Amino acid sequence: MSNPSLLILPGDGIGPEVMAEVRRVIDWFGDKRGLKFDVSEDLVGGSAYDAHGTPLTDETMAKAQEVDAVLLGAVGGPKYDVLDFSVKPERGLLRLRKEMDLYANLRPAQCFDALADFSSLKKDVVAGLDIVIVRELTSGIYFGEPRGIIEEGNERVGINTQRYTESEIDRVARSAFELAMRRGKKLCSMEKANVMESGILWREVVTEVGKEYPEVELSHMYADAGAMQLCRWPKQFDVIVTDNLFGDLLSDAAAMLTGSLGMLPSASLGAPMANGRPKALYEPVHGSAPDIAGQGKANPIACILSFAMALRYSFDKGDEATRLEQAIENVLAKGYRTADLLGEEGKQPVSTSEMGTAILEAL
Ligand code: ATP
Ligand code: MG
Repeated sequence: MSNPSLLILPGDGIGPEVMAEVRRVIDWFGDKRGLKFDVSEDLVGGSAYDAHGTPLTDETMAKAQEVDAVLLGAVGGPKYDVLDFSVKPERGLLRLRKEMDLYANLRPAQCFDALADFSSLKKDVVAGLDIVIVRELTSGIYFGEPRGIIEEGNERVGINTQRYTESEIDRVARSAFELAMRRGKKLCSMEKANVMESGILWREVVTEVGKEYPEVELSHMYADAGAMQLCRWPKQFDVIVTDNLFGDLLSDAAAMLTGSLGMLPSASLGAPMANGRPKALYEPVHGSAPDIAGQGKANPIACILSFAMALRYSFDKGDEATRLEQAIENVLAKGYRTADLLGEEGKQPVSTSEMGTAILEAL
């Protein structure tokens, strides 16, 4: 049997710096755990534009469709601000998401004990927090028609349309239930069925899909109440599923419960492939961070945790993913901090590669 395949797209800015540390981790799993991947690497974003005049070549797109998982660093940077919209670095990432039809965006908010003091919330609210928000990513108000700015009488009107089909709700609900089955078997669906028809349909369809997952305890919450509960006592949740717009807001809020952008991984999942696993792209939540690029300051943990998600969701290696997360927990407990994880304490931060080395040693 051939090895599972992984396409690595380091991208721009700190992307290549954090991805270099992930490559070391991948090599470690190959050498020490016999977990070999067929890894290929390609350009995306500004670096692809510099080499090929497009932020994503057709060859790279085709490759992304073939592999078991794609791991991406970050795209963009001030150098590319002048480019035409159609070739901006971000278009490369959008094309990947669109053509791979990655409709379920998973964003875990997980608080490592050693960083519980670092959150803006009280320690007992966040310590041990481990939840995942599933955000619908390819439909809803960001895509619905009609849209635009039109003239009406003597003023202009800005229009966007919240629109969800039953099948769009059904498929993201399934992703969320599948995830809940692998975790705490608890799912909370959030919408605003009190004021939105799309919310009424959302609730109906999620409830219907839920009948196929009787082991999962399903609850519903209005998204505004959900936002409040997420800040008040986030540990009441395990998996949350919500639409594109509410998910955008709720996942950003949940993310900040845990500390730094440099800690947050994400997965974007699509329809199941022949092997039963979903099409998938894994990436850190942070961007290319041009302000610190090229200085060895970037925190590689978000990108390494994204690889841990790949181990869990694309390669069915949950134990190995836990091993990696545990190594990161140990390193943080020992006090290793990149600059983003230090407040004003005046401690000396470790560099990107020193953090990578510490994680390898902990492994
Ligand atoms: P994008 O538009 O690509 O999302 P952005 O400028 O909006 O980029 P990020 O690149 O995500 O935002 O970063 C915001 C700031 O957070 C950066 O300027 C950087 O200082 C900090 N930051 C982001 N990621 C990391 C990281 N991995 N390690 C350390 N600091 C980071
Ligand atoms: Mg940003």
